[in-house]
Amino acid sequence: MLAGVRPIAQTPAASQTAPVITAIRAGRLLDPETGTVLTNQVILVEGRRIREVGPTVAIPPGAQVIDLSQLTVMPGLVEAHNHLALTYKPVPENNVYYYTYVQESTALRAIQAASNGIQMLAAGFTIVRDMGNNGNYADTALRQAIEQGWIPGPTIINSGIIIGGMGGQFFPTPEMAKDHNIVYPEYLDADTPDEIVKAIRQNVLFGAKVIKICVDCKPYGYTADEIRLFIRESAKSGMKVEGHVQTPAGAKNAIDAGIWSIAHSGALNDEMHKLMAQKGIWRAGTETPPGLAGHPVSPEAYRRTVDGLKNAYANKVPLTFSTDADYWVEGKTRGELCLEFLRVWADAGIPNADTLRAMTINGYKVSETETTRGPIKAGYFADVIAVPGNPLEDLNALKNVQFVMKDGQVFKKDGVMTPAAFFHAGPVNGWRIR
Ligand SMILES: [Zn+2]
Repeated sequence: MLAGVRPIAQTPAASQTAPVITAIRAGRLLDPETGTVLTNQVILVEGRRIREVGPTVAIPPGAQVIDLSQLTVMPGLVEAHNHLALTYKPVPENNVYYYTYVQESTALRAIQAASNGIQMLAAGFTIVRDMGNNGNYADTALRQAIEQGWIPGPTIINSGIIIGGMGGQFFPTPEMAKDHNIVYPEYLDADTPDEIVKAIRQNVLFGAKVIKICVDCKPYGYTADEIRLFIRESAKSGMKVEGHVQTPAGAKNAIDAGIWSIAHSGALNDEMHKLMAQKGIWRAGTETPPGLAGHPVSPEAYRRTVDGLKNAYANKVPLTFSTDADYWVEGKTRGELCLEFLRVWADAGIPNADTLRAMTINGYKVSETETTRGPIKAGYFADVIAVPGNPLEDLNALKNVQFVMKDGQVFKKDGVMTPAAFFHAGPVNGWRIR
């Protein structure tokens, strides 16, 4: 610590001083854990947390009352694989993200990330796992800005820079690779045990909350032993490891090593799914639906996608809702784009209750917030959304989020964003939040 710099007490957001107690009247309260709906519940929120939930909760005098008696209230949604600081587009880069990296600075992308985060929150996503390709730690900057209280946004679980063997997921030219420019810093090269340890420590130092690795992006991908080293070293800092997997051999290595989660699902077959279920390895599949402008999916590819998800479900693999959204589809916010992926779950015949579980309960678990944030229970941070209709009967209800509360503050009401309470000219939750 610098001489003369004194610790500053953590103070609550100025806007939370009055009123501190909010009572939400929930006409229907959906519990994704049990897949049931209770009627006429009251959720009492004090400051940033839920104080009490039930049908007979007394509303203290002076409490702010929010009437959601016509809506279905439920916990916030989780998107388990997004890239908030990356938005490739048809023009000028023809949806080729190499060019996005050339054209857009980390600073610009950090501002995109703030915008994308707001769009996600407006769609009901209160937690987003931001899994790399975010320039020079724009994901950390976003997380800190939200946690310190500068701007509204989901809770961010960010990976920092993806770690891989030389070149990462890309095929840089020798000029790029040797001078480490242009498509760097999208990947941290780690080709030896020393480099693996160092890369993890760099990410931890610069604010990652989960470690993301390229398991098999190159023929010289990581062995099961190297992945075990990743897991061991990351665990020292309390972090889990997610692997980008694209080949059956890579999947096998990741599963043998006991990785926390596997991103992408193309390489996962029946055998892998059985092993993943046995070991409790999260499947962060990235199942793109057809019909997104500029992102064609052939009928054959889509059939494979749907069959893969179906097989994973039949094998009881722990599933997350994850999209890998890192592009712009005209007319849709980033959050609306993610909700388009619901179609795949419906086409795979997964019961709505289980899709909702993947989007909530499983999301909290893969994000490791399940004891602090997510469920609408006393003591938890108050993240609450509401929709008309009943998502258990029709998942499309989720595409019409009318109300969002994040950390006890109303972000969206009657379908309109009202984020003023979230904007501050300083880090009202404390600058030490790193
Ligand atoms: Zn991705």
